[in-house]
Amino acid sequence: MPAFARKRIPTFAAFMSSGRTVAFHTLGCKLNFAETSTLARSLEEAGFARVRPEERPDVFVLNTCSVTENADKECRQWVRRFQRINPEGFIAVVGCYAQLKPQEIAAIPGVDLVLGANEKFDLAAHLERLEGKQDQGRAVFGAIKEVRSFVPGWNTGDRTRTFLKVQDGCDYFCSFCTIPLARGRSRSATIAETLAIVRGIASAGVREVVLTGVNTGDFGRMHGETFLDLVRELDKVQGIDRFRISSIEPNLCGDELIDLVAGSERFMPHFHMPLQSGSDAILERMRRRYDTALYARRVERIRERLPHACIGADVITGTPGENDQEFERTHAFLRDTAVDYLHVFTYSERANTTAVRMEDTVPTERRRERTHQLRILSTKLQRSFMERQLGSARMVLFERGDGEGAAMEGYTDNYVRVVAPYDASRVDQLSEVRLGRINGDGLVEGTFTMASPSRYVVDEFAMIV
Ligand code: SF4
Repeated sequence: MPAFARKRIPTFAAFMSSGRTVAFHTLGCKLNFAETSTLARSLEEAGFARVRPEERPDVFVLNTCSVTENADKECRQWVRRFQRINPEGFIAVVGCYAQLKPQEIAAIPGVDLVLGANEKFDLAAHLERLEGKQDQGRAVFGAIKEVRSFVPGWNTGDRTRTFLKVQDGCDYFCSFCTIPLARGRSRSATIAETLAIVRGIASAGVREVVLTGVNTGDFGRMHGETFLDLVRELDKVQGIDRFRISSIEPNLCGDELIDLVAGSERFMPHFHMPLQSGSDAILERMRRRYDTALYARRVERIRERLPHACIGADVITGTPGENDQEFERTHAFLRDTAVDYLHVFTYSERANTTAVRMEDTVPTERRRERTHQLRILSTKLQRSFMERQLGSARMVLFERGDGEGAAMEGYTDNYVRVVAPYDASRVDQLSEVRLGRINGDGLVEGTFTMASPSRYVVDEFAMIV
């Protein structure tokens, strides 16, 4: 038994009589961060004080991800890290990996509690029921098909930007993806419920809301509403300067939505649309719901309506059947369609997906090589996008960062990361900045202009010049 052998501690309640501190660590996507914040609020309401992991908390909560094969390794590493910090601390594991492999995680030495996709939102109650540290953790989870309720989530504490979970789950079942198995069927709150949350966030002084989900564009389908309806209503909410759509499937990013964003002061000219492959044969094997022609039309429409917009794409290398020609087709498609940056993932076999049963698997080394090539392409695309912005004046929302310092950073409307001299009066504020040069850290150096915040007027002028 490891050095930090367990001490038999009567009950969780007894252990907690001397105070209640909790620390969280989140792996994975913006959705997980929004949910961690929601779980933290529920524990704070139950009397816990939130601390950082290194502050030796009584309870550690790990919010896991399941997208890559490293999920298991990362989970074990963090459990060991928690145990080194406080061998007597309770460890709870939630999130996508917890729903997929609850028993396996419960067997990891040191883990006390594993909660499934539905159960995680009752974390405080499940902690109270713990009867001290046991040799085997308790796993509480249900079948994913029973997960039907939608629990909204948003992060607080950051007055600049908030990730707002507006949708959860997915009905697409792409052949390589485990997310529907970890998060269940597509679901969301109603537009009215979502607007109420956003008004609450606005009253907390937050300037930018990032709409996030698993298949965000599928918002509202269970209530007979649409994502387009939601965007139209959000555009009218007072008090939020900016909305950003974190990601949207190409088949759900229609002309109406692009035109709505183009005509909006609040929705940012930034589209992150997963492509996954530039080969129609591979898209078919992935069971994606579009082809490259549709994707190219989306990019064309965005470029036409929002020439300065930023377009990002997810792409996976090495899925079964991807031969050299098909990879070349993906590389050429991305280069010629001229998206502005890529998030590149290396395919990894995931249990219970249809792709794992497919033949013609690509050797791991070859997958990694292709990922490397696309990451080089991404750097070039991003550089050329940033260079096209230099000289123009754009609105930047400067973040608090680590407080007082020599410089502060923030994003332009079209997702360029800008650095400028620190000015406390401009933190959490929108400021117009002229984009100068790209510095050694890959950030654009900005200088404040005296012009009014109406970005449209300034934009056109800069473009003409
Ligand atoms: S759209 Fe496909 S890749 Fe995205 S979460 Fe759904 S199943 Fe996974």
